[in-house]
Amino acid sequence: ENMQITIDGPASAGKSTIAKLIAKKLQYIYCDTGAMYRSATYVALKNKVRLDDDAALAQMLGQMTIRFQPGETEQRVFVNDEEVTDVIRTPEIANNVSVVAAQPSVREILTAQQRKIAAQGGIVMDGRDIGTAVLPHAQVKIFLIASVHERAVRRYKENVAKGINTPLATLEQEIAARDQKDSTRKISPLTKAKDAIEVDTTSMGIEEVVAKVMAIVKE
Ligand code: C5P
Repeated sequence: ENMQITIDGPASAGKSTIAKLIAKKLQYIYCDTGAMYRSATYVALKNKVRLDDDAALAQMLGQMTIRFQPGETEQRVFVNDEEVTDVIRTPEIANNVSVVAAQPSVREILTAQQRKIAAQGGIVMDGRDIGTAVLPHAQVKIFLIASVHERAVRRYKENVAKGINTPLATLEQEIAARDQKDSTRKISPLTKAKDAIEVDTTSMGIEEVVAKVMAIVKE
């Protein structure tokens, strides 16, 4: 009995970390939908397509294929034959992706691609609108949250490990700004699905969150 498990929530709440671990435990496919919106943003910036030009973005998406490939530690992301795993995680992409993600054709096209991936078998999919719009009939819906401060602290630690030293206050502002844009857009805004279970991870460790989500899955 292959299930659909959706993990939605605001930026840096730990969705992908948790989703990856749950997928591994259940031997399900993991799909990071944020990586798809980030890939679209990366290609648009590279080709100088205006980030609010819905028709141009739709045409661009028609000419590109986003693929996931299991890697050693993380899932690798490819656009056509170019690996974009790392380049889609830069602040430039993070600060521009919400504009691209607000375009109707972009959402329509990527949602269709996400449903195709989900049709392949048991799936753990993370994003903003998976439980509400992409897979509304999913058996398990999780809404992961954490305080803005805690999310900024987590991002800060990740950054330090990568040799990046953006001040904590800047990260807090960036996270809050992205939440604001993602929650107020017209199409499929970030909202908790009626039947989603909210998990506040502010004072929880990764293993604790995984155990909690696994308990919900087994219910
Ligand atoms: O999850 P991640 O931070 O990688 O998502 C990047 C951005 O992509 C989000 O801030 C949001 O604008 C967009 N997104 C979305 N719908 C999804 C996943 C991501 O609009 N399902």
